Amino acid sequence: MSDAFQLEELDGSIALLTLNLPEKKVNTLSQAVLAELAKWIGQLAKRTDLRGLLFRSGKPGQFIAGADLKELATLAYASQEQVGQAIDFGHKLYSGIARLPFPTVALIDGNCMGGGTELALAFDERIATATPETKIQLPEVNIGLLPAWGGTQRLPRLIGLNAIEVICGGQPLSAKKAAELGVIFDAVPADRLVDEGRRLIDYFQESGEWKRRREQARQPLGLSPDQFTFAFATAEGLLQSKTKGQYPAPLAALKAIKEGCNLPLEQGLEAEKRVALELFGSPIAANLIGIFFMKNRLAHDPGVDRTDVKPGQVDRVGVVGSGLMGAGIAAAHARSGIPTAMVDVDDARLAAGIKQAEEVVLSRIKIGRAAPMDLADMLAELSTSTGHGILADRDVVIEAITENEEAKVATYKQLAGVLKEGTILASNTSTISITRMAAAAPDPSRFVGMHFFSPVDRMELVEVIRGEATSDETVATIVALAKRIRKTPIVVRDCAGFLVNRVLFPYMNEALLLLQEGVPMDAIDKAATTFGMPVGPIALHDMVGLDTSFFAGKVLAAAYPDRATMPALLKDLVKAGRLGKKTGAGFRAHGGKSSKPAADPAFAPILEAHRTGSESTLNAAEITDRLFLPMLLEATRVLEEGIVREPADVDMGLILGIGFPPFRGGILRWCDAEGAGKIVDRLERFATLGKRYEPTETLTRHAQTGATFYPVPKATLA
Ligand code: NAD
Repeated sequence: MSDAFQLEELDGSIALLTLNLPEKKVNTLSQAVLAELAKWIGQLAKRTDLRGLLFRSGKPGQFIAGADLKELATLAYASQEQVGQAIDFGHKLYSGIARLPFPTVALIDGNCMGGGTELALAFDERIATATPETKIQLPEVNIGLLPAWGGTQRLPRLIGLNAIEVICGGQPLSAKKAAELGVIFDAVPADRLVDEGRRLIDYFQESGEWKRRREQARQPLGLSPDQFTFAFATAEGLLQSKTKGQYPAPLAALKAIKEGCNLPLEQGLEAEKRVALELFGSPIAANLIGIFFMKNRLAHDPGVDRTDVKPGQVDRVGVVGSGLMGAGIAAAHARSGIPTAMVDVDDARLAAGIKQAEEVVLSRIKIGRAAPMDLADMLAELSTSTGHGILADRDVVIEAITENEEAKVATYKQLAGVLKEGTILASNTSTISITRMAAAAPDPSRFVGMHFFSPVDRMELVEVIRGEATSDETVATIVALAKRIRKTPIVVRDCAGFLVNRVLFPYMNEALLLLQEGVPMDAIDKAATTFGMPVGPIALHDMVGLDTSFFAGKVLAAAYPDRATMPALLKDLVKAGRLGKKTGAGFRAHGGKSSKPAADPAFAPILEAHRTGSESTLNAAEITDRLFLPMLLEATRVLEEGIVREPADVDMGLILGIGFPPFRGGILRWCDAEGAGKIVDRLERFATLGKRYEPTETLTRHAQTGATFYPVPKATLA
């Protein structure tokens, strides 16, 4: 046997089995580890001298992080037979644990995820440490799978119908919540874990209670027909509306629970396997697993290729501008315990900024995501001033003043006399060149873009834009800082629109051109939402503000004149003061009796003046192509120009920045799935529209050679 497990005996009669993968930060359940566990269980099953088994992790604060990541990746491409074998193996192993001839208790300290949770569920009981690090979770539905090593069967038998939310929601449970639900027996201090486990074994032996529990765990859940119908119909309705038919995993997990819970456990496990086989290997599961890996890569990406570059220390941060973005950025830092100074031109604006920062925490308190103390903690880290002097000791200063190059440059010049040696100056600009503005910064090598998205507290993405002179140290420091405030940074080279707005713009623009051609705005928005976008492009224009769209559009049209045009319609709407939601009218009317935007008769004459066609003959699929193909082409140009380092950067940027549908895995994954050859054929249909629909070099090559943006891993499951 290898050395993943160690067996000790406590008091000569209780076995303590410890999992501690050598030289690994976390324990994961690879096939090799599971095979080793199976041998240990086989040996323990023969022992007649033991009174009980305790199982724990040898890594403090880390129980089991779930399946091995590399093996998980191959799962998406494994054959049905291979997946079936993997499920059988897990079922057999965990059932073996559930049949050991003595009571068993899993001791959970730290993250307990996926297959690790299912393993713990095979024990007679579980005790966990009452620490914030301890989280018990079945996250499989988040990556398009379901817990198929008994999770969908053992959890309902343990906690009844509450299991539906835990399994189909895929969210973690704290130790306290797990104890309330009955997932664990108790939550105890870490240093009491083994002793409490021992006591529980003693109790089980004295009372014989473990035998009764085991018997119950093997039985059907025993829901009455009424309970059964009501519970599953309600859950199904809820999940249908939440997943809009685009995410099959939560509904499949529900189906597994439904088909198995009123049967004896053994048959329930068969039902689980049956449903899992329908789900695993689906393209959606492959896309969601892909996203999981892309996120994981970004979490570990230092942002630079050089391995000798380390991020600098950041103890204090400054933010210039306390408007919508500045206040959000300051709050994000202060909430993460970083002393933050916020500067604006007068006290009234600073007061508004503080109020907005408070709102961020108050809204989190309301939904139970923050405690009242967090507000005081955040405010303690936040200081304000109308002068620049407060920025003199800052390691990083983020500029978030009005989008005006002259004003920004003037501010940088003023800061030159104030900032200490070594301070990094970052700009939150959405449209202005970082390379150009760097010339006015105190030190161009320590000047960088740090592009947050609105609303800052909810949007996870930060584009880190490196100008021509930006140093690796600066990039690495800002990437590390963004991670510290729980954002996902993506490093982007300087170009108009950076990554996200550059790729979004052709899609937003095309929506307006379609409108001018005579396609109804509802049909345009519907095509986008049916594709999976959270809102359609016309609705999005109204949300971001038509003045903002117009301004950004002008910058992008100037930068990419061969393919970007500025629809005159937008200019006229701005001129007419129709700026979208914020002024009550844009493409649609806002703020009427219904909270929903409505068709606005006053818009028709403005559109009429710009009509290029009367009635469009495009069908829904063609409208979808008109919207997304220019987005795809721009994404391939971004890659060709080396604006980002990997296809995954583009896809994650779009998923996190504009809500590109995760089930599609990103625009480049979508291209892989559709096939570049077919995309090139479909572009042909719009060839008369010019460069906007001309296949790029990369796309043409992919179409000719069958190459893909993402390699297809070979299945290695035994
Ligand atoms: P805003 O108008 O809400 O806030 C700007 C703030 O800067 C105001 O409080 C203003 O008083 C202050 N200010 C102006 N000149 C100043 C100076 N010289 N010194 C100190 N403070 C000054 O604007 P916003 O929406 O927060 O945008 C700020 C920046 O963030 C812009 O560069 C914008 O392009 C960028 N951005 C905005 C969004 C968005 O959705 N609003 C998204 C990403 C990036």
